[in-house]
Amino acid sequence: MWDLENRQYLDFTAGIAVNSLGHSDPRISRLIAHQAEMLIHASNLYHNAWTPALSKLLISETQRQSPGSPLSQVFVSNSGSEANEAALKFARKVAYSKNPESDQREILSFHGSFHGRTLGSLSATPNQKYQAPFGPMLPGFKYGVFNDIESLPSLITEKTCGVIVEPIQGEGGVNVATSEFLKAVRDHCDRVGAMLIFDEIQCGLSRTGDLWAHTASGVHPDILTIAKALGNGIPIGATLGSGKSVAPHIKTGDHGTTFGGNPFACRVAHHVFERLAATEMQEAVVEKSKIFTDTYETLSRKYPGVFSELRGRGLILGFQLSDEAKGKAPEIITAARERGLLVITAGDGALRIVPPLVISAEEIKRGLEILDKAMAVVFNTPDHVHKTKGQQEMAGR
Ligand code: PLP
Repeated sequence: MWDLENRQYLDFTAGIAVNSLGHSDPRISRLIAHQAEMLIHASNLYHNAWTPALSKLLISETQRQSPGSPLSQVFVSNSGSEANEAALKFARKVAYSKNPESDQREILSFHGSFHGRTLGSLSATPNQKYQAPFGPMLPGFKYGVFNDIESLPSLITEKTCGVIVEPIQGEGGVNVATSEFLKAVRDHCDRVGAMLIFDEIQCGLSRTGDLWAHTASGVHPDILTIAKALGNGIPIGATLGSGKSVAPHIKTGDHGTTFGGNPFACRVAHHVFERLAATEMQEAVVEKSKIFTDTYETLSRKYPGVFSELRGRGLILGFQLSDEAKGKAPEIITAARERGLLVITAGDGALRIVPPLVISAEEIKRGLEILDKAMAVVFNTPDHVHKTKGQQEMAGR
């Protein structure tokens, strides 16, 4: 990327896990121009070729790569928050459809999660920083401790209609749900007839090396929400629902959207998804991840006491700064940016690595060298002192 002053950057943020195919991809640019010349929007009152084409591809790849998945229907919207809003409404509608008198209205989500900024998705996001100014939140939302299996029986009750989980919490600090936790949540949802919603808006679409972050757990959700990388920057979100537990309870007109499903965004997403879902892309993600995890070890040794943990999978990684070092996170981010690397934080002092999936090994190495230099400056290592002296000498000459 280049900024307005023509300074060059390597991008480890990808617009917060959005530009998985990088910036200004020529095939996407051509396709955007081509579709814009034909039809951008006609409303979903009318059939267009691309909403069903995208929906079909999302479902067929999910069923191929997550064998046994019950997902068979798609609602297309314009953002992650909207995808989650639809998911929450569908969970409530399923319970209502079974019994309109039912008090099964509660939604359970988990601390450290981020589900969006609309009132429904925000009510499922137990973070005072985001919720407090906009209270009261919607009624019927409960919060549990992420990965705490013991607490599930008391949290998921006959009143629970939906449970929403990020298989890897992005904003919360790249916290990975254990397979045991996902299985236990699934079992408790089945016990009470609640819909299990996986929010893969940040961690999905091959970012972990699997199509979905939950694939490896073998647990299937009733509802899956996606957005971010789906349009590579063109706004689009989607809510995938089970043909067994969800679809029979949702009627046309229950939920709606003006822009959602427009042929422009759907055509882009169809192309993007096809490329992201490819095996070669996923294998490359796993290989590239190794460069990051190896370098984490090197940096940990070079800056003792600075890092406390490496979390995540594939190209969604968190380099957790120790309690002593995490106050310096903003300085590291700034020092890196000044040297040509974009990187962001997550949770409580984790450096979040979510680069485009198409980043090259050479670019990763260069970016990590910049990160190393930024850390040398911030933690004032002999490396930095030495360099500064060298630079001074050069300046004096
Ligand atoms: N869910 C998750 C896991 C996210 O990371 C985000 C955005 O960061 C959202 C939902 C909200 O998506 P959007 O900002 O597109 O509304």
